[in-house]
Amino acid sequence: MHPAIQQLAHSAALVSIRHHLDVQRIVRDAVAVQQIPAPTFQEGARAAFVKERFARYPLQNIRVDDLHNVYGRWVGARPDGPALLVSAHTDTVFSMETDLRTRHKGERLYGPGLGDNSLGVAALLALLDIFQAHALRPAADIWFVANSREEGLGDLGGIRAVWKILGERLGAAVVIEGMALGCVYHAGIAVRRLHVTCHAPGGHSWHHFGQPSAIHGLVQLGERIITITPPRQPRTTYNIGLIEGGQSVNSLATSAEIYLDLRSEDPDTLAALEQRIMSDIDDLRRPGLDFTVDVVGDRPAGQIPADHPLVQLAMSALETVGIEGVHENGSTDANALLANGLPTVTTGITYGGHAHRPDEFIEIPPISDGIWQLVLLVLAAAGQLRTWAGLAG
Ligand SMILES: [Zn+2]
Repeated sequence: MHPAIQQLAHSAALVSIRHHLDVQRIVRDAVAVQQIPAPTFQEGARAAFVKERFARYPLQNIRVDDLHNVYGRWVGARPDGPALLVSAHTDTVFSMETDLRTRHKGERLYGPGLGDNSLGVAALLALLDIFQAHALRPAADIWFVANSREEGLGDLGGIRAVWKILGERLGAAVVIEGMALGCVYHAGIAVRRLHVTCHAPGGHSWHHFGQPSAIHGLVQLGERIITITPPRQPRTTYNIGLIEGGQSVNSLATSAEIYLDLRSEDPDTLAALEQRIMSDIDDLRRPGLDFTVDVVGDRPAGQIPADHPLVQLAMSALETVGIEGVHENGSTDANALLANGLPTVTTGITYGGHAHRPDEFIEIPPISDGIWQLVLLVLAAAGQLRTWAGLAG
């Protein structure tokens, strides 16, 4: 176990925090956040809620930027040195009209967006509660940020804007994902998202049979894509996540479109997959049938090694609650920070399931351990920033 975590885990003040953690309050906060619709690009109401809550704590520099990122700085013992960013995204994959009612079943709580990522936002508030109640003074400044645009077509726009504003001041970051307890993400996989539209002149299904149809053209492309077998190593995937088009059942479609999500652990393999799809598109072009392609997502890859001290702290913090952490790579806000060279880990608060589905759920009892390991990780990381930056003590 990392000595910094060991020391904190045995300090009397922190042990008392663990015993007085109010899980029900954290769950109430998570539900309060979850009840505010926040589709990507429409996080304003949720941002206003978080800002109002931030204002109850002795945070400096509280503000909301144009992208609905909410910022607040907890002043540390050495405000002149590098700061720690602790962030959780506010946006969800659910539309404004989604039924957001929650329901309990045993130790589980169901609700769209609850684990991803209302619980993450509630964890930010829980940290602030704990810092205030126990008058904690972290070694370095900590920027608490509830950011927008993590999901889908947000393309990490929220955290990218945060980086532009805070980047120079930061020494490391901890990103919170509600349902990722036990996982330590320290590598971001590369993601490309393409919006492919097929165009054709249209016509009548009977009279013009045989002439190009945008839907037929797009389906041909889809057929080629889904017969691709991507490599397992490096793990590489594709998904046609959205498809729409056409005018009526008896018309040759003039327009049809898909959204494609391509991912790989290796940027070159990802580029090769995209190239293959682009050449399939070229191949399908013919008089009257055309395709346009827009890149709507480009998440960079980036990583810190598994033996990086920040990863070790995250693993050790989990060890204090008896969890053997798993090294993960994935696509979270951490990608954008890692790609800029900032040591970053993504960690979780509890277990859950069915993310991005209406029957998403979280397990309530592990939240206590999840918050405790987060407190340890954040305080320990804040204490190590100067060392990592090569600054004296
Ligand atoms: Zn998430």
